[in-house]
Amino acid sequence: MKLNLTVQPLTTWLPAKQQPLVISGPCSIETEDQLLATAHLLAKSGRISALRAGVWKPRTRPGEFEGIGSQGLQWLQRAKAETGLPVAVEVAKGEHVEQALAAGVDILWIGARSTANPFTVQEIADALRGSDVPVMVKNPVNPDISLWIGALERINNAGIQKLAAISRGFSSFEKSAFRNEPMWEIGIQLKTLCPELPLLCDPSHICGNRELIPYISQKALDLEMNGLMIEAHMDPGTAWTDAKQQMTPDDLLDMIEHLTIRQETPKDKKVIDRLEELRKKIDKLDDLIIQKLAERMDVVEQIGSYKRDHDITILQLSRWDEIRNKRVHFSKALKLDESFANDFLDLVHAESIRRQTAIMNNTAVKE
Ligand code: PEP
Ligand code: MN
Repeated sequence: MKLNLTVQPLTTWLPAKQQPLVISGPCSIETEDQLLATAHLLAKSGRISALRAGVWKPRTRPGEFEGIGSQGLQWLQRAKAETGLPVAVEVAKGEHVEQALAAGVDILWIGARSTANPFTVQEIADALRGSDVPVMVKNPVNPDISLWIGALERINNAGIQKLAAISRGFSSFEKSAFRNEPMWEIGIQLKTLCPELPLLCDPSHICGNRELIPYISQKALDLEMNGLMIEAHMDPGTAWTDAKQQMTPDDLLDMIEHLTIRQETPKDKKVIDRLEELRKKIDKLDDLIIQKLAERMDVVEQIGSYKRDHDITILQLSRWDEIRNKRVHFSKALKLDESFANDFLDLVHAESIRRQTAIMNNTAVKE
């Protein structure tokens, strides 16, 4: 998969007031007072770099609060003027883009439900043409990196270069502690395909409850994400949307104080040397593991030919059970995680079966 985006560095359009970069504000604008009170509490800390707020809310079921609509944009203008913070809203239609731009909104974002629909994204992209407003694209609801990439490409093709992605977790059938599974590997894959694309994390929509937010925020920073978007409300218990996951500005600021910013590249020569030494050890061990795996596959092929020539089945469950039990036992004795050991052995076994099947199916002459 290829990904060619032309993007400007995040620092050129959203410099962090302090590290880490945090965008915060209520899930939804409810009243002018609620927005202003929340915005002032966040702004006075000097730790928040932009104010987020939902004006149009995509709701899964009808009949719920669907956002205050365009009058919220006027309140947002006031919040911006009084706090000096740049403001961000979610857009889900071309019409939203036009209204937000007319109201001087500084940053737009595309929500997870919209990213999942290429028609919607294209409509937004068409409305953006000619503007250079920054746009952040949340991942789609479902774990499909192509939809996410497609949305980023559509927005970029419309001429938007102040572009960022936001990882907000993915819905999953599996019951878990999270509202949306983080599936960090998808964000990492996106970052690998396009290292210059800023990637932020939205711990609020991953967690679905405020208790888990510190853990996910720290993890996002440790994975070198470029910033956090976290929902805050002056009185979360009474919030009209996402009441369980919003934090008070005080709790949010306290949590940010306790986050550890780890360095990507250490400055101390002694630390660099020690890391280098340990990395060399890892390199050697990895080489050895790969070499041994290749040797194992060689023996597997010899067994494959032997089984073929003597009409013996490939899969012998009792033998596999015995191997697995012994190896898992050994792994546990060496303090390896049991499920890691199981996954690794399954992978090796699957490859062994694949190789033996290939040998079985070729037409070599029997003895
Ligand atoms: C939001 O940020 O308020 C929102 C609706 O998020 P998502 O699109 O990630 O569900
Ligand atoms: Mn929300």
